[in-house]
Amino acid sequence: MKRIAILGAGESGAGAAVLAQKEGFSVFVSDMSEIADKYKKILDSHNIEWEEGHHTEDKILNADEIIKSPGIPKEAPIIQKITAKGIGIISEIEFAGRYTDSKMICITGSNGKTTTTSLIYHIFKNAGYDVGLAGNIGNSLALQVAKNPHEYYIIELSSFQLDNMYDFRANIAILLNITPDHLDRYDNCMQNYADAKMRITQNQTPEDAFIYWSGDPLIRKELDKYDIKAKRYPFTEQKETGSIGYTDNGMYTIKEPALFEMRQDALSLTGKHNIYNSLAAGMAANISGIGKEDIKRGLSTFPGVEHRLEHVAEVNGVTYINDSKATNVDACWYALESVKTKAILIIGGKDKGNDYNEIKELVKEKCSGLVYLGADNTKLHDFFDSFGLPVRDTHSMKDCVMACHEMAKPGETVLLSPCCASFDLFKNMEDRGEQFKTIVKSMA
Ligand code: ADP
Repeated sequence: MKRIAILGAGESGAGAAVLAQKEGFSVFVSDMSEIADKYKKILDSHNIEWEEGHHTEDKILNADEIIKSPGIPKEAPIIQKITAKGIGIISEIEFAGRYTDSKMICITGSNGKTTTTSLIYHIFKNAGYDVGLAGNIGNSLALQVAKNPHEYYIIELSSFQLDNMYDFRANIAILLNITPDHLDRYDNCMQNYADAKMRITQNQTPEDAFIYWSGDPLIRKELDKYDIKAKRYPFTEQKETGSIGYTDNGMYTIKEPALFEMRQDALSLTGKHNIYNSLAAGMAANISGIGKEDIKRGLSTFPGVEHRLEHVAEVNGVTYINDSKATNVDACWYALESVKTKAILIIGGKDKGNDYNEIKELVKEKCSGLVYLGADNTKLHDFFDSFGLPVRDTHSMKDCVMACHEMAKPGETVLLSPCCASFDLFKNMEDRGEQFKTIVKSMA
C-alpha cells in the first residue's frame, strides 16, 4: 500500500487526508501546531492517524509522497529532510487534481484573487451551474472531490500552492497581476515569485484558455519566457490593440469567444482594480459558454467580499471603509485610487519589506491625515512624517478609530488599507477588520 504523509492539518490537509484514504493510501497526518477540533473530528471520523505538536520523522520520511500545507516554508527542517531524501512534495490541489475530470478555473495574482474567485463563483452559481469553490479561499478541493464532486471548480491559487504543483492542468487559468509580495518566502527574489505565479499555465493545452492582464509589465515580460500552449485572452482597462476584454466609452466589452457588452456603471464592484477583476471574471464565464444575460446579472449583483473595500458606516458625515485585506502596498494603491474624497488612511502592521514610494504621490494627493497602527511604527514615521500631513501614532484599534474620529472632517473617508500583515497586533486580517467594524459601528 502506498504511504502518504500529510504535513499540516488545516482545511487542505484534512481534506487531502480524506481523499487519500478513499483512494486507498495509508495516510499519516502530522502538524507542528495544535490541530483545530473541526479537523480532528474529520480525521477521527475517517479513522485517519494524526499527531500534533511535533513531527515523527521516522513516519514522515518513510512515506512515498508528501502533501504539504502551503503555509509551511521550504526552509522548515522537516521539509529540508524530506527534500534531502528525495521524497516528492505536492500540494493538496495537485493531489486532488489526479482524481477528478471536472473543469478547473484557476485564479492567481498578487492581488484580487479572492474577489475574482468569488465573483466567478457567483456568476456560475446564479447561472445554475454545478460549481464548487476551492483553494486558498478556504474550501478544500480534495474534500469536495472525495465527498461532493462538482462539474466545475473555481480555485483560488496562492503562489505557495503553485510551488508544489506539477501535473495539474487548469482549463481556464487567470493571472491578475504580479507585484512584490511574500518575497521573504522566495529568497527575496522577485523572479522566483513570478516563476511561481506563471506555473498556473503549465500543462495547459490549446483547448484551454489563459486570461491575463496584459497591462502588467511583469506579466508581459514573463510571457516570452514560457511556452504557453493555451489560447491567450489578454485584458486591459482601456481598449488596446490585441485586448480581448476592456472598457471603452463607458462600455464593458469582451470580444471573444462571444461578443459581450454591458454598461460599465452597471458593474456592482467599483474602483479601477475591480474593472480588472470584473473583466477576468466575465471572460472566464464567457469562455465557459455562460449566456449573456446570466453574465450580466452576475456582474451586476455581486455583493462584494468582506474586508475588501467594504463600506462599514457613516459617522458624522464621515464614511468608514474596511480594506483590512490590503496587506501589501499595491492593494492600498488601488484602494486609495478608488476613494473619491479626501481620506484619513490607516496604515501599518507587520511590514513585509514594503516600499512606500509606490503610494507616495497618491497619499499626497488624497490624504488629509495618516493614522499609524502597528506594534512598531518607526518605518512609517521615517517615510511619511515629512509629508506635512497630520499623523497619529496608535497601537490598538480603539485608539486608532478614536484618532480617525477626531481627525476626519464631514465629507471625508476613513480608509483602513494598511499595506501590512496584521499579526503584530491582531490574530489575522479578519480580526483586524472585525475590530475596526465593531468600534466604528458602536460610534454610528
Ligand atoms: P487576494 O485574495 O489576492 O489577496 P483580494 O481580492 O482579497 O485579493 O483583495 C485584496 C486587496 O487587494 C483588496 O483589499 C483591494 O484593495 C486590492 N485589490 C483587489 N483586486 C485588485 C487588483 N486586481 N489589483 C490590485 N489590487 C487589487
